[in-house]
Amino acid sequence: MEVILAKPRGFCAGVKRAITIVRQALDKYGAPVYVLHEIVHNTHVLRELTGMGAVFVENLEAIPVGSVVIFSAHGVALATEQKAVQLGLRTIDATCPLVSKVHRRVMRLNRIGYDVLVLGHQGHPEVIGTCGHATGAVHVVSSPEEVNLLQVADPGRVGYVTQTTLSLDDTRDLLVAIRKRFPDISEPERTDICYATTNRQNAIRELSADIDLLLVVGSKNSSNSNRLREVAEHQGVTARLIDHAGEIEPAWLRGAERIGVSAGASAPEVLVAEVIDWLRAHGASTVREMEGDDENVVFAVTPC
Ligand code: SF4
Repeated sequence: MEVILAKPRGFCAGVKRAITIVRQALDKYGAPVYVLHEIVHNTHVLRELTGMGAVFVENLEAIPVGSVVIFSAHGVALATEQKAVQLGLRTIDATCPLVSKVHRRVMRLNRIGYDVLVLGHQGHPEVIGTCGHATGAVHVVSSPEEVNLLQVADPGRVGYVTQTTLSLDDTRDLLVAIRKRFPDISEPERTDICYATTNRQNAIRELSADIDLLLVVGSKNSSNSNRLREVAEHQGVTARLIDHAGEIEPAWLRGAERIGVSAGASAPEVLVAEVIDWLRAHGASTVREMEGDDENVVFAVTPC
């Protein structure tokens, strides 16, 4: 049995930056430091930061006045930022810069009177934060069927942004429907699907030709990890999303000679190493990494 590691995989620049911001705040202010929502969608990361003194909360009212609150990498609505200040909290923003760029485009489009279509998953924190930057009309769209139901003020004044972790394939189909309905739509220079999402999905597409089974390390609520699983499935490869090696079932390996392993943008490499150990203990004789480009993207962290 051979194991082939996807390249690239795992932590992206936005996740590294968000985790660094929480660690830095703990160093500077001491525990507890509050984080609104999961800083990134990974249970291992959350457990580690909780052990250091981070407290994850779902609403601002749960935070004592005067405390430090960090906004997660997915970003929050403008109203949430304002409310935190009104509640007397000291705010630190760990929103990924690529998500902030999407927020700015939403505001710009609304400012010139455009309806904004947000291509994404209803209810995902990033989509909530993005819609929460609208100062005018905004509509979440997740399927071509929904495009025909949209009611906009002026079909000639519509623009779109996307969630950063969407499937490249699904978005392509969605954009065909959107361009058909709104031929004059204002498009970003490129979709907002980020470099990390794009590179990880492309790696899985390539890897799928060589494997019988794909294990994706990532938490169940991680959007980009779920998309990696789907990309492999669309290529006809059985794929499993696992939080850690302990979730692998030996029966999955039956008949699999080549097993691919990848990790979502919020999953640390230590979990991949544990999966490799598990596979070695269950018969993997060789482990190699596929050919792929190195990622050199780094987002600066301003001292808090
Ligand atoms: S997946 Fe992309 S948008 Fe999300 S945190 Fe990472 S780099 Fe930023």
